[in-house]
Amino acid sequence: MSLRDPADDRDMPPNGNDFVSALCLRGVRKVGTTLLLLLNITSESSLTWAHLYPQVTPNEWRDYVLAAEPDVLVALSDIPLTSGSYSQKRVTKSIERSASWLANILRPLPGQHVSPGAASHLPNVLVHMAGGTTPAARQAFSRSLLEPLFDKEAEAIKPLDNLDQGVAGYTFDLAPLHKSLSPPSSHETTIKNGFEATIDLFSTPPAPSVVKQVVSLICTSLELLPATKPRFVHSAGSPHEILALIRDVGIDLFDAHWAQRAADVGVSLDFIFPAPTTGAPPDAADAAPPREIGHNLYDKRYSHDFSPFADTLRSCSAEQGDERPPCTCMACAPSRPSQPLKLSRLDETPPLHTPVPYTRAYVHHLLHTHEMAAHTFLALHNLAVLDTFFAGVRRILSERPEAFSQEITRFEQMYDEKLGVLAEARKTWTEVSLTRGKGRMAREREKLKQDTLGTAVELN
Ligand SMILES: [Zn+2]
Repeated sequence: MSLRDPADDRDMPPNGNDFVSALCLRGVRKVGTTLLLLLNITSESSLTWAHLYPQVTPNEWRDYVLAAEPDVLVALSDIPLTSGSYSQKRVTKSIERSASWLANILRPLPGQHVSPGAASHLPNVLVHMAGGTTPAARQAFSRSLLEPLFDKEAEAIKPLDNLDQGVAGYTFDLAPLHKSLSPPSSHETTIKNGFEATIDLFSTPPAPSVVKQVVSLICTSLELLPATKPRFVHSAGSPHEILALIRDVGIDLFDAHWAQRAADVGVSLDFIFPAPTTGAPPDAADAAPPREIGHNLYDKRYSHDFSPFADTLRSCSAEQGDERPPCTCMACAPSRPSQPLKLSRLDETPPLHTPVPYTRAYVHHLLHTHEMAAHTFLALHNLAVLDTFFAGVRRILSERPEAFSQEITRFEQMYDEKLGVLAEARKTWTEVSLTRGKGRMAREREKLKQDTLGTAVELN
């Protein structure tokens, strides 16, 4: 349970000493169009940010958490997402607020939430490591977790001696770091209507120099902290960045945000770790252009391609003796449920044929006819590819840890780090969306504009 979507790096109004600004799902859609319309039409609008972004206080957050009883929760953190660079004063404030909000969530549980033998405070609290892109600030925040607390502060978190004792693990949201470290042109943070904004969240992957800086900043945060607690990374931008973070930092867990976004724009992922040895002799690796990490299934070249989504993973029906691991996703290896729901007599009849794997050509067709099933199949497949990728990482780390770095180099040589296929897919996604937008969609958009304009006036 986390208040903010860690992958969302759009500008937001500043947080206060005792509140965090957050976007809610409804807010994003309404905010986007409303704000644009107001800026275009009535520049003297008195609409304030507060109307659009709910502000959540640390006490409210604690109440939500106690009511929802999540298995794992992320403490509130003051991550600034305002435009421009941040002053020294702002950074200091950010780490002070984050520490004080963490202390608030670690207060002893009220009577009705305490069970015999269980911890007196909320278990499984993760803390986002504050400090932004300033190494000294990151160090200061880590130190503030370890320092013993005194007086009122110590009393508030009793029986814990310091904040770190109540923390189960450390999280790092990369989206704001990527944003601060990349040139402004590579990020489109303008608020558009919700539909386009969702795709905008899928920004370009971080450049190698940015990945290096991210690695160094995270290492600075972790320097003083115990190595035994799990480390989580949100919104890594590419498999290349994921591998660097495993090798250079020892990150334990990642989210699958970018693989899901790839499915949104019509890309079927097709890569594996360790990189395949067939078809690319080591000495030819430098000469051969790097492969794309997937296929843009919007592209016309797939309209008659009846092969499975991935070349590097075979579909389960492939012949025996094939060394490639199978893709067991529901799109590549569809199966019938062992206990199908029987709703009528018709369902008693056994199915006529066994299900066959879906093909690139079929999804190409679905994408161009705007069938949502396309994205469902792609999401199923992409998550399976990522799963196999991590299985490969775990296997190398347990069987041949000494070869891990070398395998990463081979992976980097084989697969395009710029993820060009995603940029290309995003472009075609927009084109198809625009063509589609000329008919019914255009009328719907117009209606949405009218509706949200009404809301905006009301808020005024
Ligand atoms: Zn698959």
